[in-house]
Amino acid sequence: MRILIQFPEGLKDRALHHAKMLEKEGNEVIISASPTFGACDLALDEARDLKVDKLIHFGHAEFHKVDFNVEYIPYEIDAPLGILEDSLSYLKDFRTIGLVTTVQHLHQLQTVKEFFESHGKEVLIGKPYGFAKHLGQILGCDIGSSASVDRLVDAHVYFGGGIFHPLGAVLNTKKPFIAIEPFQGSVERMDHYREEYRKKRNGKLLSSVDAKKVGILVTTKNGQSNMPMAELIKHKVEAQGMEAGILVANTFDFDSINNMMEFDVLVNTACPRIAVDDTDRTRKPLLSANELMELLRMKKELEAMRGSEA
Ligand code: SF4
Repeated sequence: MRILIQFPEGLKDRALHHAKMLEKEGNEVIISASPTFGACDLALDEARDLKVDKLIHFGHAEFHKVDFNVEYIPYEIDAPLGILEDSLSYLKDFRTIGLVTTVQHLHQLQTVKEFFESHGKEVLIGKPYGFAKHLGQILGCDIGSSASVDRLVDAHVYFGGGIFHPLGAVLNTKKPFIAIEPFQGSVERMDHYREEYRKKRNGKLLSSVDAKKVGILVTTKNGQSNMPMAELIKHKVEAQGMEAGILVANTFDFDSINNMMEFDVLVNTACPRIAVDDTDRTRKPLLSANELMELLRMKKELEAMRGSEA
């Protein structure tokens, strides 16, 4: 069988190992070297161009159905659990906690839950909205596992590497949010990110109120592409007397986008995390679709005020 294999950035150093194993089974194997951000980002164009029989996507659970022979091989990573003891002091004021993790540590979720239960906590594990597939699993674009138990818990706990995955959940709740990072051996209260995000968002909106030309970012990544939303945004922007252009790429190269100097503001329709994580990489304000709607409302109010003063 002719197979294309694909790995997220953190697992790319395992690619040759897996290629050799598949070759030993008699397969012809090609390794995708493209950046890979999630199961939303299947290398389907490469797979079709190369006429492979199958794409194997390592490191993530299925995200959505596609019209191609795709096998998903999630990667279990055993995180060290010693840090759990240290996290107890952060949780001393909370009786009921919501617990979330990433797909790589789902197999450890029960052990983590039992640890906290043995220290007198009630632990709730919520249900994702749909992009994530397992109870307690969280994605940057699916915070259902924490949102679904939000009103029942005193605090939320994320167990896993980095802060990319839980940040969306932190912004979506007013409850205390504690991140346990087992690889760094650190525990962090993440609540302060809400205020930082609010300030950044207000700054982006204020610096965009006089925008006249809007660039709307659309990706061709199969699980992130949203041309209908881009067209709707273009229509709304033009209806308010501004110009808009739809900018398409697979992976956004912000150096290249920064060369498009005629745009005053950019709007993201791809992975929702881009308008949070990549705002410092663009010269012009980079807004989410919701932020753009807020901007249009602000501009309308401002125009009405200017009109009444004239
Ligand atoms: S957060 Fe973004 S990169 Fe991650 S699965 Fe969702 S759309 Fe893909």
